Amino acid sequence: PSINTPSNLTDKIRVCVRKRPLNKKEVARNEKDIATINSQRTVLINEPKVKVDLTRYVEQHMFVFDDVFDSDASNEEVYQRTALPLVEYIFRGGKATCFAYGQTGSGKTHTMLDEKQGLYVLAARDIFNLLRREEFTHLASYIGFYEIYQGQLYDLLNQRKKLFAREDGKKNVVISGLQEYNIENVDALMQVFDYGNMARSTGTTGANQDSSRSHAILQIVLKHKKNRKKFHGKLSFIDLAGSERGADRGDADKQTRMEGAEINKSLLALKECIRALDQDKKHTPFRQSKLTQVLKDSFVGNSRTCMIATVSPNISNSEHTLNTLRYADRVK
Ligand code: ADP
Ligand code: MG
Repeated sequence: PSINTPSNLTDKIRVCVRKRPLNKKEVARNEKDIATINSQRTVLINEPKVKVDLTRYVEQHMFVFDDVFDSDASNEEVYQRTALPLVEYIFRGGKATCFAYGQTGSGKTHTMLDEKQGLYVLAARDIFNLLRREEFTHLASYIGFYEIYQGQLYDLLNQRKKLFAREDGKKNVVISGLQEYNIENVDALMQVFDYGNMARSTGTTGANQDSSRSHAILQIVLKHKKNRKKFHGKLSFIDLAGSERGADRGDADKQTRMEGAEINKSLLALKECIRALDQDKKHTPFRQSKLTQVLKDSFVGNSRTCMIATVSPNISNSEHTLNTLRYADRVK
């Protein structure tokens, strides 16, 4: 990859969809695949419906996005068309965010934070290579990894220490106390990441949380070697909480309902803030959730955002799949 690659950096926001393959269980159950990728831009959903007189029919829904990835796309392909332009952008001094949004099991973690080939590793590989170039020797990369659970920030690289977000004089969001590691090679990154990932699933808060209930944020910050307070660029990879968790679930216990309400609030605020990006709105509701508060500086000024909506193709998830596509549709 070259920093001179002409790629699409004119759009402030790009919305893409990635379909995962049917898994073994779904195949064994003979589940139908209801999601068809028609071209590089459209997704077609064949939603099964039943009439009052019990006759069955199929309702078709078509969505058009900036880019679409079929179930056989590799993470490398997805990376080339989503996060790579963001890597180039942060070297030019910008801030960029790459999200995965979708129901639990649809491929968010596989896309963003897969240990060996998630988009974060592929981006880091290119970032480390670019840092070895003459023109960028004055820069260094710093990795931070934290999670947002119930509106509270926890440092995954520092024993789940509670963190607080504030703004510096230059409108950068600073996560006070965040443990950042100066890392310049992929092996070291993977070690640090593994360590953080363990903190994510086993939590010491006693809340018995799993990863679908929290937003995980891995950030790579470019700073000046001579003055580490001087910011050059920032790229954040966000593995959002499962979108189905934000739905109203009357049957759930109190804890789960509270988590759901918080997730719902943050995903709604996220949608509003991304929409506002495109419209140069005066008022953007950053304060409405912790998620949008910490992302504020990535949404104002020089910023680029790429959202990857991940969908399951099987018939029994059709409702969640449609919800995800509608959310993504409203963002673009
Ligand atoms: P989520 O983070 O959205 O809950 P995961 O990323 O954990 O979902 O994916 C669920 C399962 O499906 C995992 O076993 C993952 O490896 C697999 N999977 C997801 N997306 C793909 C894909 N595009 N290709 C192959 N396997 C996938
Ligand atoms: Mg996950």
